Amino acid sequence: MKRPPRFVADAMLGSLARKLRIFGFDTSYFAEGGDLELEALARRERRVILTSDKGLFARSAGRGLKAILIEGKTDGARLRSIARQFGPGMSLRLGGGRVSRCAVCNGELELIGRTEAVAGGIPPKVLARHRLFYVCRSCPRFYWRGKHWERLRRLSYSLNTKDLS
Ligand SMILES: [Zn+2]
Repeated sequence: MKRPPRFVADAMLGSLARKLRIFGFDTSYFAEGGDLELEALARRERRVILTSDKGLFARSAGRGLKAILIEGKTDGARLRSIARQFGPGMSLRLGGGRVSRCAVCNGELELIGRTEAVAGGIPPKVLARHRLFYVCRSCPRFYWRGKHWERLRRLSYSLNTKDLS
């Protein structure tokens, strides 16, 4: 399987960056700093730049960096911009092969056992309803496939690349 792309999202795209992490893409969020720093990061870490800024998009592409112009006002539409660029070779589908990453810090998630989930303080109601629990390797956050995850999964199904023109 082709290695999934890594991204750096510009300051306007924080919520898109969080979704891409949950979708399992290594995504840096460039919250502060100038365009040149963003481009340096993209070059150094071989990340595809995600931006809604046409000027930045054109300049980055002109400098030989990979960039995707993100269009649309909703994250669904923005994710479609990405799907269109990559074509059918890259599935954005959630719950497929990729493991989600931490929405907050982009760390890798590790599947944990029930004992660790209990020790981590996951509420009993959640423990009763779910089977799979994850912990972030870089920050102490726990994850499970709750309502938010389900909503994103449905969204990801609507992004099926074969429907794209
Ligand atoms: Zn984390």
